[in-house]
Amino acid sequence: MAATHFNCPRCRRQLRKSPQAFVMGWAGIKAGPEEAGFPPTVTCPGCGYAISTAAMLAGDLDPKRDWVTPIAVTFGVLSFLYFRLGQGLSDAKSVGAGFVVTFVLLGAADLYDRLRR
Ligand SMILES: [Zn+2]
Repeated sequence: MAATHFNCPRCRRQLRKSPQAFVMGWAGIKAGPEEAGFPPTVTCPGCGYAISTAAMLAGDLDPKRDWVTPIAVTFGVLSFLYFRLGQGLSDAKSVGAGFVVTFVLLGAADLYDRLRR
């Protein structure tokens, strides 16, 4: 799926893609910006940085989809219930175990993301 927005690589401001740029990203068209009638760079309204249109079209600047946090929190809650009801630990210990599971998952996902780059 293509994103409808992209981030300025310098100031991280979220900018809206033009409908044409969105459709090209959605369809997976790998045309050069000039062929498609785009200027080679887009000026960021926030910081004035010249953003590469090619990188924007390729989806390199799309906001990262955060699917890890909801999963990690779900597992954290499940482990809380497991330790509280299944293992009979106290509330404090169960909450602690839930937090540990959540942060281990978030840390592992972050590490995985770093190693892929
Ligand atoms: Zn900017």
